[in-house]
Amino acid sequence: MDNRIYNVVIIGYGGMGSYHVQLIESNQQLAVGGVYDIVDYRMELAAAAGYKTYASLDAVLADEAVDIVLIATPNDVHKEIAIQALQAGKHVICEKPVTITSADFLDIVEVAKKENRVFTVHQNRRWDEDFRIIKDIIGNKTVGELFQLESRVQGANGIPGDWRQLKAYGGGMLLDWGVHLLDQLLQITDSKIESVAATLSYILGTEVDDGFASFIEFKDGLTAVIEVGTTNYVKLPRWYIKGTEGTAVIRDWDLSGEIVTRNPDVAHVEPKPIQAGQGLTKTMAPPSEESTLKFPIEKIPAAAESFYENFVSTIEGKAEIAIKNEEVHRVLVLIETIFEAAATKSVIRRTI
Ligand code: NAD
Repeated sequence: MDNRIYNVVIIGYGGMGSYHVQLIESNQQLAVGGVYDIVDYRMELAAAAGYKTYASLDAVLADEAVDIVLIATPNDVHKEIAIQALQAGKHVICEKPVTITSADFLDIVEVAKKENRVFTVHQNRRWDEDFRIIKDIIGNKTVGELFQLESRVQGANGIPGDWRQLKAYGGGMLLDWGVHLLDQLLQITDSKIESVAATLSYILGTEVDDGFASFIEFKDGLTAVIEVGTTNYVKLPRWYIKGTEGTAVIRDWDLSGEIVTRNPDVAHVEPKPIQAGQGLTKTMAPPSEESTLKFPIEKIPAAAESFYENFVSTIEGKAEIAIKNEEVHRVLVLIETIFEAAATKSVIRRTI
């Protein structure tokens, strides 16, 4: 029997909406059924690319040929579009951050349940290779028991675009890259969060944060530093993790980096003191080569199922959705806690 083809209509044909085209078209069971954008020029681009354009959101929702609505608009209108699309009987994929508040997200989930439609969020960075490698290193205990994790993305180009600089649209870097990094973090451990401290930065003078640094402690003892910057002319590594047996670093998306661990076959060899500034140090000397092992960062095979493959399997009742609503909700609660910690300059002790 031939596989059924599902029509996806893209709402918001900007940077990300037009990127989704490639993802949709590379899936054999999905087709771009059309586009709706409030800006004429974006609709002209869609038409020039050969896609059907709809005159309004209502026209999309009234079209029975539309199976899935993909929301790739600025963040402030995700909720209203998602709820209308679910109520029209469509399955919905929404870009991140799904909503600006965790309460708004629960309203969507309630409608999805009532309408018995699949609703999920495009947390695509769970498929990033650097993240999957780090998860593997941790899961395989290559560096022993993980006790410290640092995850950062840093650029020097400021906050991009227009709406991302405005609060009313859900702008700012915590709600932008922060969502990805925090979502990845919560996939790394099963432990609950115990406390959160944070600072937001406003170096560029915008009304929203141009970056943030958060310090998150888990009940199992793991501490995590999650940082996003847009004013970093020199950046720190993408990942830096420490376990009881070693350290791993992935410097960038090119997967440059290494893993250094204790050599279990060699008794500890004292390092030699090194000249450090105006003094000598043994404490801060590199570990002796004899007592450590060094490995490159190895690529790993692609994930078994892509985001869209999983979505199709889920609407056909053959799989569980990869990005679960409870997980999305937890990330939003964590984001709200980071905002609160930064605003009150305090450590928030809360189980999340
Ligand atoms: P963008 O400004 O490039 O595009 C947004 C488009 O939505 C514009 O063409 C705009 O005209 C249109 N639009 C605005 N309001 C609309 C409405 N009510 N109905 C229909 N169209 C409307 O923004 P972008 O960078 O593409 O971001 C869109 C969404 O995608 C945001 O939620 C963003 O956070 C997310 N995003 C996700 C990733 C990722 O990796 N998952 C990457 C970039 C952006």
